[in-house]
Amino acid sequence: MFNPSYPMKALVYHGPGKKQLDDVPNPVLHEATDAIVHVTKTTICGTDLHILKGDMPGVTAGRILGHEGIGVVGATGIGVTRFKAGDRVLISCITACGKCEYCRRGMPSHCEQGGWILGNTIDGTQAEYVRIPFADTSLYALPEGVDEEAMVMLSDILPTGYECGVLKGAVKPGDTVAVVGAGPVGLSALLTTQFYAPAQLIVIDLDANRLEVAKQFGATTVINSTDGKAVEQVMALTAGKGVDVAIEAVGLPSTFGICQEIVGAGGHIANIGVHGVSVNLHLEKLWSQNVTITTRLVDAVTTPLLLKTVLAGKLKPAQLITHRFPFAEMIKAYETFGNAGKERALKVIVTNP
Ligand code: ZN
Ligand code: ZN
Repeated sequence: MFNPSYPMKALVYHGPGKKQLDDVPNPVLHEATDAIVHVTKTTICGTDLHILKGDMPGVTAGRILGHEGIGVVGATGIGVTRFKAGDRVLISCITACGKCEYCRRGMPSHCEQGGWILGNTIDGTQAEYVRIPFADTSLYALPEGVDEEAMVMLSDILPTGYECGVLKGAVKPGDTVAVVGAGPVGLSALLTTQFYAPAQLIVIDLDANRLEVAKQFGATTVINSTDGKAVEQVMALTAGKGVDVAIEAVGLPSTFGICQEIVGAGGHIANIGVHGVSVNLHLEKLWSQNVTITTRLVDAVTTPLLLKTVLAGKLKPAQLITHRFPFAEMIKAYETFGNAGKERALKVIVTNP
């Protein structure tokens, strides 16, 4: 039911360390290309925790957080042609105008009027309703009968793991791939790298529970790096040669350092992690090694492909969901996700009636 005059509940950022479930006005259509979507399921991302720590000063107090979710279209501007009220949709974390130079180059992460704006520079999805600019090119129709919780994983983490990790890493059949970091995005890279049948799939993390999950998700070897000996173990597993692809899914100097030490000649380091401080780049060792180092902000241009693999049962992203909360318990959902190690949390699903 779409009732724009009524206040709604939303998770509002009130500056570093401060968040609240507030009553705020419903969003309204600003542009002809906007849609208002009733968010039925959303989730919390590691990026939201970064914002709450104050790591992203571009996000200002009063902002509704969240850039992932699914919902039902409530209203559309007159310029929206592909969706109408009542349509069930997947919300992409990337807003794409579809027309600017970057969108035309297949790089909507840098869209001149969009990119990652939801829950960043405009209000996001951790609310009962959200305004989606450029709805035609930023929403996807949900197929009938699909597992809705699984679809929430397609807003951000699966395209991120696949595009920034697997595609940028150029994984090939028979490769030895190491994923450094077994959080939701690292595990998404682990799931989607298996499209390419790598021979060895090594996952490195500090958390024993997450490594156990990684095994269930297809890792051939898991390494707990608590003892600081992950590099030696990877070199032993690869006869001293190193890996073909090292996927960095943490965003720390130490984990990027591991990637530099384990990448073999001709290999790729595919960075996914959000880095807050500079890393040491060891060109004195890497200059002669024919390595490729890549970075990417997710473009979410592989969402249609990933949607098909989920529908065909080739990819089962619902495995990433560990906790479920009603929207009224959003703060509790944050506490659980914020203590992921202790709570054994991967992704939480927050449902609006
Ligand atoms: Zn995210
Ligand atoms: Zn654009």
